[in-house]
Amino acid sequence: MANQGLRGENLRFENTTGDDGRYIGPIVLLGPPGAGKGTQAKRIVARFKVPQISTGDLLRDNVARHTPLGMQAKAVMERGDLVSDDLVEEMVAERLKRDDAQRGFILDGFPRTVEQAIWLDGFLKHGIFDNQKGKKLKSSPPIVIRMDVDYNLLKLRLTGRRSCPTCGRIYNVHSQPANVDEVCDVDGTRLVIRDDDREEVIQERLATYERLTRPVADYYDRQRRLHVINGDRQPDQVTEEIFQEILRHSAAAEGR
Ligand code: AMP
Repeated sequence: MANQGLRGENLRFENTTGDDGRYIGPIVLLGPPGAGKGTQAKRIVARFKVPQISTGDLLRDNVARHTPLGMQAKAVMERGDLVSDDLVEEMVAERLKRDDAQRGFILDGFPRTVEQAIWLDGFLKHGIFDNQKGKKLKSSPPIVIRMDVDYNLLKLRLTGRRSCPTCGRIYNVHSQPANVDEVCDVDGTRLVIRDDDREEVIQERLATYERLTRPVADYYDRQRRLHVINGDRQPDQVTEEIFQEILRHSAAAEGR
């Protein structure tokens, strides 16, 4: 019964319409695997109508399509390690030039190393250049939000995580189950467990986060751009706080 409210809340946030055409700019979501970045990103997409760019999803798509990038990334991902910076940076650069990213975008899972963060700063500072249109696209420094979650809660979330291979909706058997066990509420597809959400890989992914991605937050903190949000709370409370940060930042970016 306790989950009933959560289901409703999830849909409430995902059905909101708030697109007023304003410039939102880059949003970077940081946090360990299982912090709820994917769930929050989907709500930001619904509210602000900017695309979610998940490097994990882009890489998994390349693996599934057996592209040269996918072939290089597959074994590394299965071990829970990081794909090399230059491969991921090139993939992100291509994605950011698309029309749908020009009012802003959410980076989910990127940057994951300090090197990637430095690369992103340079990329945004020099302006994203659209070769086809021959012009520079508007850009601004990212708003950086880190979601912190207790370690034991993270492990529970990751082992319980299920996703829909058709629409990408994320569920959790403990906290956010589908209405019908293991079946997507939206399109009826059977839910799947990601390969790297297996217990032994989870340990490795959390260790990799501590080692390589924590310093990314420190990098942004030194630039006074880091907003830390307590991700242990109900998803809605987290969403409210994230929306407020985005609106504050967007108002400042519009005035620039
Ligand atoms: P995620 O879905 O974000 O947890 O990513 C799944 C896997 O894709 C990671 O464990 C890495 O192997 C790879 N990956 C995703 N994003 C990056 C990134 N920014 N840099 C390097 N590897 C990445």
